[in-house]
Amino acid sequence: MKRNSAKFLIAVFACILLFSGCINIQNEEETTTPIGDVGNANPSAIGSYKTMEYTYQTNVDISCLTTHLDPTYLILANKTNALSEDYVPASLTTLTCETTYSMKLESRAAQALYAMLAEMKAAGVSDISVTSAYRSYEKQSETYNLWVQQEMSGGFSQDAYRVLGQAYIKMNYLDKEINRLSLADAHKVAQSYSAQPGQSEHQTGLCVDFITSGMNGELTEAFEYTEAFAWLTENAYKFGFILRYPRDKQDITGYTYEPWHYRFVGREAATDIYVGEMTLEQYLQLVNQEQ
Ligand SMILES: [Zn+2]
Repeated sequence: MKRNSAKFLIAVFACILLFSGCINIQNEEETTTPIGDVGNANPSAIGSYKTMEYTYQTNVDISCLTTHLDPTYLILANKTNALSEDYVPASLTTLTCETTYSMKLESRAAQALYAMLAEMKAAGVSDISVTSAYRSYEKQSETYNLWVQQEMSGGFSQDAYRVLGQAYIKMNYLDKEINRLSLADAHKVAQSYSAQPGQSEHQTGLCVDFITSGMNGELTEAFEYTEAFAWLTENAYKFGFILRYPRDKQDITGYTYEPWHYRFVGREAATDIYVGEMTLEQYLQLVNQEQ
């Protein structure tokens, strides 16, 4: 797997560059298609939270889960809504739950996350940890640029062939005896698997990537077959979290299916999104239409 060996190289570079040794390179989002029309979502799902009966096994502090639709928690970061370079969540806290390294999350989202993990544990699911949370614009920029450098380092990756096509590479490179991608082409290829700075939802400080012990440190669709995923599918909304990049919603979110990536939006919005089986993009469009 080319990307695995690239990850190793980039991890080495990152350790040297950052001398902290803690850049997180295992959760590059797949950003393969442009965002099209948000499609036909069901408007009747809006307001579902008002009649939903929530039940919890643990003693949950509801006040950290409900946001009263505070726009702070509905911020959109995607390929067509980039966050500015200086966007930093107002309140960041270092996570104290099980994580793969030290990381931060927005304070209320962190409280909701702890409540969710406690409930999950009470239900007998304890093999889960957080492997990515808040990522700054600078960190995303560093990570993205390392991928661009990697694509320009000589030879042509599987991703380069996938994105640019065999005929293009033959005509523009191989036939001319050029053995490395141009900067412009390297960007095209890197953009197909890594979020560009400002376009990663992790900059909001409102989302986490989960991983289990059986996943060998790799974020893959294997997460879909874990007990944790089954539990999250049924319960995440009760804690204000949504599966942010569902299967078959790629045309709307711009991201391929990511069963591991959960976003805090508050219990009200999460419930409506869950009931309506929609994405955050669709939800925001419906809500804005109503106003
Ligand atoms: Zn993620």
